[in-house]
Amino acid sequence: MRDFSRDHCWLSINTATVRKSRGVDLPLPQIIEACARRGIRAIAPWRDQVAAAGLDTIARLVKTHGLELSGYCRGGMFPAADARGRQEARDDNRRAVDEACELQAPCLVLVVGGLPGALAGKAAHKDIALARTQVHDGIAELLDYAQSMRMPLAIEPLHPMYAADRACINTLEQALDVCDELDPQAPGSSGRAALGVAVDVYHVWWDPKLQAQIERAGRRRLLAFHVCDWLTPTTDLLNDRGMMGDGVIDIPRIRGWVEGQGFDGYSEVEIFSSRNWWQQDHGQVLDTCIQRHRTAV
Ligand code: ZN
Repeated sequence: MRDFSRDHCWLSINTATVRKSRGVDLPLPQIIEACARRGIRAIAPWRDQVAAAGLDTIARLVKTHGLELSGYCRGGMFPAADARGRQEARDDNRRAVDEACELQAPCLVLVVGGLPGALAGKAAHKDIALARTQVHDGIAELLDYAQSMRMPLAIEPLHPMYAADRACINTLEQALDVCDELDPQAPGSSGRAALGVAVDVYHVWWDPKLQAQIERAGRRRLLAFHVCDWLTPTTDLLNDRGMMGDGVIDIPRIRGWVEGQGFDGYSEVEIFSSRNWWQQDHGQVLDTCIQRHRTAV
């Protein structure tokens, strides 16, 4: 397992972590500059932040500062109530692949979606099996396009509390079942798989099958590794993630399992925290990320 205690060369910042500074929206160019100043070598930006600043501008800034991406957030949200909605999702996901290529991301992260309408507050139906079928079909279709563009897709299983509104793929096992079905030749071939997973400790730390499924994934399907911590109590289902070391997740143990398979990429800090970290100065948040990356990851 790599020693993170002396530097932060394998730290990546998911830019949602400093989406706000002292409660105010922080534009992506400023986030990039603040990361570069601290010798942070990688980021994972969100599409809305990129769109707000302009794709060309961000591509240029990333290049100027010699940054890498650890992933691009995000595609997915495949299920829809009607054919038109599914077509819109299809088109939007293709644009996400194009943007990921432009930014030279190593993968496009997929948050696959749940019951259509649920995110907006009113689910169109209660058929989660149907949603999962649409996710399967949506990934299958996007995979063809992504492969033609040589952009790997990383399915991110989300904690089951998000099954209704954000992702009906909720365990690593479920994600890998989809990978094995749609990209069956991957385990035996070389390089990175066209379809793999993003392992986010926040979503999967509780899973009794986690170690076994990380071993099943193997190096080729492990496309991204996200860290933060699970606070007790958690006061908001979406925006109360903890800084590494402040909660109950044994992050080094999970990193050991992932690296045991040969994963040698970035450890990406992804914290949504409306009442704590987003209220602090982003410079202090980044400094804390660097420190905790050394001591708690
Ligand atoms: Zn994540």
